[in-house]
Amino acid sequence: MIYPNPLGQRMNGQKTFTKMMFQSEEPVHQCCGEGMWFVAHETTWGGDEPDFENHYESLDDYWVCGTCLTEKPSRRYRDWFGRGDTDVEVHEHIEENGEPLKVMFNDYMACLVYPDAVLVFGYDGNEYCHAFGFQTPPTDIHPLNLRIREEIVLISDEEE
Ligand SMILES: [Zn+2]
Repeated sequence: MIYPNPLGQRMNGQKTFTKMMFQSEEPVHQCCGEGMWFVAHETTWGGDEPDFENHYESLDDYWVCGTCLTEKPSRRYRDWFGRGDTDVEVHEHIEENGEPLKVMFNDYMACLVYPDAVLVFGYDGNEYCHAFGFQTPPTDIHPLNLRIREEIVLISDEEE
């Protein structure tokens, strides 16, 4: 017979806790003129208490603004070899090297696209950090035969 659990625990005893940990001082985690708050997630099994003092950051964590309540994903990571924050690493890279055309993320990995270079770096989620750089002279764009696509837009009679 299955009884509803008064503590809201699932069948396997899994329970998730959240805690607002600290306010960021990093420029990349500012909102409404102040640091966003780091909200940690800890999942336990079998009724164990969460150990937020020894928190291992994961993609379940997130940032929240204390003023406008805007949330954004966290890219803070930690495992036995070390810890970091891909968002901070990207921000520092842009401060030193300038604004890219585009920034793309895949979990803790970031891809920065510049007119003559593509950079990929970050933490792979399993012990290792990587950094790859691909460069090309800007003139290579022409031999690659890239063209600007022109679109014909129809204007209705009323707008003429
Ligand atoms: Zn805000």
